[in-house]
Amino acid sequence: MPRKLYIAGNWKMNTSLAEGQALAEGLVRRLGEVDDVDLAVAPPFVYLCAVRQALGNGRIALGAQDMFYEDNGAYTGEVSAPMLKDVGCRFVILGHSERRHVIGETDELINRKALRALADGLEVILCVGELLEQRHAGQTLEVVSRQVSVGLEGIARDEVPRVTIAYEPVWAIGTGVTATPAQAQEVHAMIRGLLAGMFDAGLAETMRIQYGGSVKPGNAAELLGLPDVDGALVGGASLKADDFAAIVEAGRKGS
Ligand code: PEP
Repeated sequence: MPRKLYIAGNWKMNTSLAEGQALAEGLVRRLGEVDDVDLAVAPPFVYLCAVRQALGNGRIALGAQDMFYEDNGAYTGEVSAPMLKDVGCRFVILGHSERRHVIGETDELINRKALRALADGLEVILCVGELLEQRHAGQTLEVVSRQVSVGLEGIARDEVPRVTIAYEPVWAIGTGVTATPAQAQEVHAMIRGLLAGMFDAGLAETMRIQYGGSVKPGNAAELLGLPDVDGALVGGASLKADDFAAIVEAGRKGS
């Protein structure tokens, strides 16, 4: 069975309350009827409730950009999976490169978060990707393999359908530089092979692997048309409803 495209917007630390609401309403107007692509947005924590309301009960899923690995307790500043579910989140993004490289999150920490998110009933988008110097040193496959295998360690087979991998080369995030189709396809195919080894080939064939890194309306068709690219995690271009909608349309035409 072909994998359904999955396109998610990561708003990062952007928008005001009013802008976030307007953006969500704009997405509902443009994409509210789309049912052949799974769509999602991840606004900042503080706007989750407001964006939930603006999205209504439609097809655009709500998610968070991170969470902690405990459900409650003395963890000042943290937010838990039950809290995210409580405000209507379906998924959480974990291991984004900005959390790895700005905040210093490790694969082991990300794995603890992933296990908890899945145990608490959330879906997970696990981000992986190499730094430019790692690519230049020929370490891309090694780095990404470790991020995937440690990030998903201990995950049960029946939880796998709630996991999406986002391959996001760090050098392509927010830079305007995109991986070439050959570079993206090579790493996506490697990740699928790794997943086949971790689980089995049949399950790996069903798993969705998004590409992320300067995806724009102008390059989306080419990237989303690749055999092992099953969607996109979009940062900058997800902040404009027109651009996000154009990326979704490009994906629908190409798939
Ligand atoms: C991201 O933040 O996941 C991302 C891919 O950002 P951008 O699209 O801006 O490169």
